[in-house]
Amino acid sequence: MDRIYLSLSLQSGFEIEYIEKALQSNWITSGGPNVNDFEVELQNYFGEDLFVAALNSGTSAIHLSLILLGVKQGDEVICQSLTFSASANPILYQGATPIFVDSEPETWNICPDNLEIAIKDRIKRGNKPKAIIAVHLYGMPYKVDDVHAIADRYGIPVIEDSAEALGSCYKGKNCGTFGEFGILSFNGNKIITTSSGGALISNSKEVKDKAIFYATQAKDTAIHYQHSEIGYNYRMSNICAGIGLGQIKMLKEKIDSRRNNHLFYRELFSTIEEVELFETKNEDYFSNYWLNTILLKSSEVKNDLLQAFEEANIETRPLWKPMHQQPIFDSYPYYGNKVSEKLFENGLCLPSGTNLTNEDKKRIEKVINTFFN
Ligand SMILES: *Cc1c(COP(=O)(O)O)cnc(C)c1O
Repeated sequence: MDRIYLSLSLQSGFEIEYIEKALQSNWITSGGPNVNDFEVELQNYFGEDLFVAALNSGTSAIHLSLILLGVKQGDEVICQSLTFSASANPILYQGATPIFVDSEPETWNICPDNLEIAIKDRIKRGNKPKAIIAVHLYGMPYKVDDVHAIADRYGIPVIEDSAEALGSCYKGKNCGTFGEFGILSFNGNKIITTSSGGALISNSKEVKDKAIFYATQAKDTAIHYQHSEIGYNYRMSNICAGIGLGQIKMLKEKIDSRRNNHLFYRELFSTIEEVELFETKNEDYFSNYWLNTILLKSSEVKNDLLQAFEEANIETRPLWKPMHQQPIFDSYPYYGNKVSEKLFENGLCLPSGTNLTNEDKKRIEKVINTFFN
């Protein structure tokens, strides 16, 4: 039987037309008409007052946000611990120090109480954090009001890692639009893909232009190549943007399809009390349910269930391992109460791609029912 994957994206069928346009116009480098059009599409989606720079990955978008905030060696940056490593790696690219903060149990994202404890403690030690990286993990919005109230109180800008949350909302407003910067990823496993790609959302044209300046090798205005700052090769290519233009046409369908997968899991687990399906707690939160995740009673049960899925050739994966437990990051400060550790021990991500068929769902259902009966 074919393998069922955790998160594959479905083609919309429109991609090829834009790719061909790029090939025919001979514009197959970075930047170009598809890139500009893709940025306009994203700006229309997020709102006229926001500016979007299309980049070659979500990781580069996070890196550029840190650069634009002036983060440098010796600075400290607070980062949600329960996340994918791409949220935290750019802190090290800048030679800065990550300060990790635990999750709270309702959204599994950055815990406002521990965030404030961390900020106070870092200030007491004489180094006020330069930025906060908060993540809408698995598409679940973090506690936006609480987190931003604290950030505002201490005057610390928020970089909103919305890589997994395109289409998610908090109190009716799009995730990616609350922070000083919002970042998106169009990696192959995300809601929409450009094969590889990302975007930086900001609220000024100057900031967007500055991001593109750094993303295209920081060329000063001159006839020859002249540079007075460090540049990067981070711009999206015209081919990739063509895929993005095809994909974004189907954004609503893609979100609906992920949310339908969630309804399937809700029904499936409604009678299985050993499983807790991760869901929004009230109507302030609207999740794209990029990935459906569950908590089991123990890590043994989780491992056995993962094994049972594996035997049926179905991919599942433990929740993201917290950054403060990673060999590369475990020497950095951490503020928390072991919430993310517990989630990592007992949690499992289930197949949630837009390509999940009814046949696939039957196979998943069979594994679950056999395992728990
Ligand atoms: C995918 C992802 C990123 C990085 O995006 P890339 O486009 O793969 O570089 C950053 N943060 C989170 C939470 C992600 O899931």
